[in-house]
Amino acid sequence: MKIPKKIQLMGKTFKVVLVAKIDDDNGWGEASHHNCYIKIKKSLNSQTKMETFIHEILHLVYGCAGIKENERDIEITANILYQVFQQIK
Ligand SMILES: [Zn+2]
Repeated sequence: MKIPKKIQLMGKTFKVVLVAKIDDDNGWGEASHHNCYIKIKKSLNSQTKMETFIHEILHLVYGCAGIKENERDIEITANILYQVFQQIK
């Protein structure tokens, strides 16, 4: 599975960019609903990149749907979805 350069989500197009550094120093990813982007740290291995991509999508979806976000829940859900998507050919 490859991370796309852009993705349609909830009626908007989000740019997906690989960056050397995330603004939040220890972060692996960052997403902005307002500015329509998902940033992922370039130096991560491919599995962690994909998990981070899914993680950031969940932040956007939860934020847009008004669901209260919690890092732990998002982390667990992203990891499980990653494993599910790995089984899709
Ligand atoms: Zn997060």
